[in-house]
Amino acid sequence: MKKVFVKSYGCQMNVYDAERMADMLASEGYSETKAMEEADLVILNTCHIREKAAEKVYSELGRVRELKQEREAAGRETKVVVAGCVAQAEGKEILRRAPAVDVVVGPQNYHNLPSLLKKPRSERVVDTEFPVEDKFDHLPKPSKAAIRNRGVSAFLTIQEGCDKFCTFCVVPYTRGAEVSRPVAKILDEALRLADAGVRELTLIGQNVNAYHGEGPDGAVWSLGRLLHRLAEIPGIVRLRYTTSHPRDMDDELIAAHRDLPALMPYLHLPVQSGSDRILDAMNRRHTGDEYRRLIERIRHVQPNLALSSDFIVGFPGETDAEFEDTMRLIADVGFASSFSFKYSPRPGTPAADIEAQVSEAVKAERLGRLQNLLEMQRQAFNHGTVGQTLDVLLEKPGRHPGQMAGKSPYLQPVQFESDRHAIGEIVTVRIMRAGSNSLFGEWIGPDSQAAA
Ligand code: SAM
Ligand code: SF4
Repeated sequence: MKKVFVKSYGCQMNVYDAERMADMLASEGYSETKAMEEADLVILNTCHIREKAAEKVYSELGRVRELKQEREAAGRETKVVVAGCVAQAEGKEILRRAPAVDVVVGPQNYHNLPSLLKKPRSERVVDTEFPVEDKFDHLPKPSKAAIRNRGVSAFLTIQEGCDKFCTFCVVPYTRGAEVSRPVAKILDEALRLADAGVRELTLIGQNVNAYHGEGPDGAVWSLGRLLHRLAEIPGIVRLRYTTSHPRDMDDELIAAHRDLPALMPYLHLPVQSGSDRILDAMNRRHTGDEYRRLIERIRHVQPNLALSSDFIVGFPGETDAEFEDTMRLIADVGFASSFSFKYSPRPGTPAADIEAQVSEAVKAERLGRLQNLLEMQRQAFNHGTVGQTLDVLLEKPGRHPGQMAGKSPYLQPVQFESDRHAIGEIVTVRIMRAGSNSLFGEWIGPDSQAAA
């Protein structure tokens, strides 16, 4: 059997795509390996969101080239594929900069990999045209064993691409226009995952709450309606979705946070900035106060909500006062977790052409202050759960023998001593201590919540 090594960078969409590529190559006779040295096929599934992410790929390709040469000297061939958003954005340039690469394939084209890999070695190919057909129709279904191997929590792509055109972002160019998968296909995939033991589904999309897929009744279904339907699947006990845009949080979706017990009280809703002028320049189409009011509405129906966000500091022209607006928004809203970045100019995006770029030193200083505040909020949130009893979905054995590890409803890693529980179970744990990244608790039994 031939072996394939897939390395994924960036977002959850790439994790999902990497799994689909592995499923497809399994039916071509490839088994997955975690050791690049033994791979007959190396796939780098790349991310173009920030310059650093894209450059990482080229340094990794240097390493892959050496490996390919060593294997060649030992009489073994290695094919190298660059997939994902760098492939889409840079196409032929990759072949020019990285001689080891045989195939460059975009995120909407990877279903063509089997035929692309059959081309002769002398023919290096680029396949990045946005196809007319839907790649999902060409992807084989994963085996039960492959699903089980990936654990009890699974990603499911329901929507791809983006029409929002935030002025800093490459996604609309690398992933293409916004497309929602039909409800029937999502249900089919969800049933298959549940049947193989998956308990938690995270619905993913670049703009997941813009979902508007065709329902089996011919009507257009929103994300709220889809969540209600997925919650009916036996075995699926937890639902999540990511990444959402504030503009697309409609009433039905907000109500689902009140009405659907399976929908976890966690929401990743990026705001990017707290300054109205910067939000406008970013083309985010909402103000800081509109975001504050939206969060109030969601917290009104789900008071336990753990909120998460993305922030960009040093967007072109951001003044000290505008940065302080972001700090104020963070202090006002309160976040349980977050991701924050220095603005990175991306070729082809409108913001990259704005002359007033912010210096690296100022970006670094702002990012440091912002991350300190967000880290304090994260720790405060975690410490706030000490003494509470939380449901934990068990995902794997813990770090030490006799421990189990899982996730709280708020997506916090939780560890506790146990030799009697199985992966996939939901157990009630009293949180005793908050470490820097995990919570530590003790099992108190399924009926202990009433007593707590
Ligand atoms: N669709 C999501 C939204 O609208 O919030 C975001 C998707 S993007 C893959 C993830 C995050 O990367 C963004 O929320 C933003 O904070 C960050 N990001 C995108 N472009 C960036 C850039 N040019 N520089 C720095 N961070 C960027
Ligand atoms: Fe990028 Fe998200 Fe804006 Fe779309 S909504 S352009 S994915 S940041």
